[in-house]
Amino acid sequence: MEPPQGLQEPAAGGRRRRRRGGARNRRKPSSSSQQVPHTETVPPPPSSPPAKRRRKDSTGQAATTPKRGNTSSLLDKMRARLSGGHFRMLNEKLYTCSGQDAFDYFKDDPSLFDVYHTGYQEQMSHWPEQPVNVIINWLKSHSASWTVADFGCGNAAVAKNVENKVFSIDLVSDDPSVIACDMAHTPLEPSSVDVAIFCLSLMGTNYPSYLEEANRVLKSSGWLVIAEVRSRLDPNNGGADPEKFSKAIVQLGFSLVSKDMKNKMFILFYFRKKEKCKSVAKSIDWPQLKPCLYKRR
Ligand code: SAH
Repeated sequence: MEPPQGLQEPAAGGRRRRRRGGARNRRKPSSSSQQVPHTETVPPPPSSPPAKRRRKDSTGQAATTPKRGNTSSLLDKMRARLSGGHFRMLNEKLYTCSGQDAFDYFKDDPSLFDVYHTGYQEQMSHWPEQPVNVIINWLKSHSASWTVADFGCGNAAVAKNVENKVFSIDLVSDDPSVIACDMAHTPLEPSSVDVAIFCLSLMGTNYPSYLEEANRVLKSSGWLVIAEVRSRLDPNNGGADPEKFSKAIVQLGFSLVSKDMKNKMFILFYFRKKEKCKSVAKSIDWPQLKPCLYKRR
């Protein structure tokens, strides 16, 4: 039986060789990269440091067997590659299925959620600024008495860093303060929160239903704060038109207060729920949001 691809990696120095013309270049593109035009390129995990110069044997040939002292670092590299691949697979899954399917998927094996979040944090560590920190600072500059719902909270950074009461919501919870559910259907009361946050969490194919749920739980004049990966909303890059995206949210019953485009990696939208919205438009023209896939450098 063929070993999994990650295990076929050559020993130290292999990364550089493979890139020049080896297996990596010959590898068939995955179906996902064919389907979606956009991928985020990020550096390899820190546990996969740049390859060191290969050892030469007595004939001057590059040695293929690592020294015993290198074995553990080689294993670390292999593990990092395997878990990086696993993260990318889970990430693609989340972007290409409905919220309900994602919920059922993680319910079957909640440990996959940790795999996902380890990879996610690794990717985020390369971003010059993390959108969740911008949102935390925004919240800190407003009233601590506001009740907040953090839709797709991940590691619940918002709840951990502000004084406000925060309902943290995600697909899996190993913390009693996090509500585990598909965020299209939360247990929150109608008109009960002042702020609804979606920080890089509009992942499911049914993302409009998450925003409808936020609309349901938000009080009149409540804030809807959305951070999304910039390339998903970049028409020049196969992404959706940000105007069309915000227009759909306006049709849902919100006013766009401001849009922050200054960050290279993400866009931030600040909406407020209209005080008296007679009725939600019958059919809203929601743009399709492309998956944000990560590829290995
Ligand atoms: N907001 C966090 C995490 C972003 S990762 C941060 O900025 O750090 C996106 C998160 O959204 C993941 O944790 C994922 O599990 C969650 N998510 C995606 N679809 C969801 C759904 N339908 N219901 C609940 N959570 C969801």
